[in-house]
Amino acid sequence: MSILKGGSFLRTDSGWAARPQYLSMEKALYKFIDSKRDWIISFTKSLVEIPTVNPPGNNYEKLVGRLEKELKSLLRLSVRKITVPQRLVIKKGIRGASKRVCLLGCWQTGSKKTVHLNGHYDVVPASSNWDTPPFQALLKGDRLYGRGSEDMKGTISSMVLGVWALKELGLQPEVNVEFSFTPDEEIGGETGFGWLVKKGIVKPDYGISEGYTDSYISCGNKGMIWAEFGICGLSAHGATPHMGINAFDGMIEMATELKSLNKRVSRRRTKWAMRNDKDRYATLVLGGEAGGGTKINMVPDYASFSVDRRILPEENIRNVKSELEGVLNRMRRRRPDLKFSMKIKMSDGPVVIDKANKLPKAIGSAVKKVLGVRANYGVMPGGTDMRYLIKRGIPAVGYSARGGFRWHSDNEYISVRSMLNTAKIYALTILNL
Ligand SMILES: [Zn+2]
Repeated sequence: MSILKGGSFLRTDSGWAARPQYLSMEKALYKFIDSKRDWIISFTKSLVEIPTVNPPGNNYEKLVGRLEKELKSLLRLSVRKITVPQRLVIKKGIRGASKRVCLLGCWQTGSKKTVHLNGHYDVVPASSNWDTPPFQALLKGDRLYGRGSEDMKGTISSMVLGVWALKELGLQPEVNVEFSFTPDEEIGGETGFGWLVKKGIVKPDYGISEGYTDSYISCGNKGMIWAEFGICGLSAHGATPHMGINAFDGMIEMATELKSLNKRVSRRRTKWAMRNDKDRYATLVLGGEAGGGTKINMVPDYASFSVDRRILPEENIRNVKSELEGVLNRMRRRRPDLKFSMKIKMSDGPVVIDKANKLPKAIGSAVKKVLGVRANYGVMPGGTDMRYLIKRGIPAVGYSARGGFRWHSDNEYISVRSMLNTAKIYALTILNL
């Protein structure tokens, strides 16, 4: 590979050109990345085998140490470790777990603009239904099995390899390249990437994080309202129900009312592409959490259930909230004998970026080159850490290496081929900016 090092390429007005005796820039890049198959397997394996399970968030420092070593030795980057303040972590109800350490790496190319690559290193717990031990990454053909391989440790490896290739081949981008590897995306990101953005520690011109894969690029995500509805009645002996007011009955009436609201809601469809066409609709899920009642022979004086409402980019979060309040008010009028309440536990508006921005174009053209397919621009049904940047007006896209779409499920795996291709896509995207 030595002939490809330093000075093999020239930047011209129309892009990178190789000196005639050498391979084209893309071919050299692909060749370097493909030669790192063993590296990407063993690096991803080493990340999967540190169980950064969240909740509660374990082994964070160990994982960060592993990433730090690679950023320093392979990429020769200057790195910083920043710990999210403990008082914020405690405020979120997290106790007795790892410190929330964020790792930052920076490649200053002297440019005015910066692209930021972010990966979250926490993973969700694994059930006992796995065919392989979830924290011993096992390779079967092209698939590397293990918890967090697809979400998103494999993608972290692609990010590192993509930038390594640029450095190794002497391809200096026209943007500075920054990394952050952060905790707690799986619990909302406010004690991870969200905090870095809020504090202005991360303030790039472009952001890239996890998202869709293959030909799909995510340009934002749906919004959401998580609400808890409560119904208060009056308890009585189960043998004399006429003495009480049944809160559970009130809950059924209210849930029925919400189901008819859902009929209207679920007809709304976004113009944005989705990987699965069914995801293009607004959704309302009832009863993810439900409770109430104390004993079989009592008239229940309390009942509660949750609503998970996902909001399209074309909808307005205030209107969505009013629709839910409308149901609440109708129930209050219809059943004055019961007390109804609605508590918003979490709410976040939908976010999207402009498709005409330089970043989606840059990654779209990289996808076309590497995979030979035209890019589709879509929004994600669920939120990722990318939304923190988009909310600040910073264009950010989501793009991941692919597995079997088994995030948060059993037998999660990542395709080695896809990790290598994704590294190429990241590298070309950075050069396109
Ligand atoms: Zn993820």
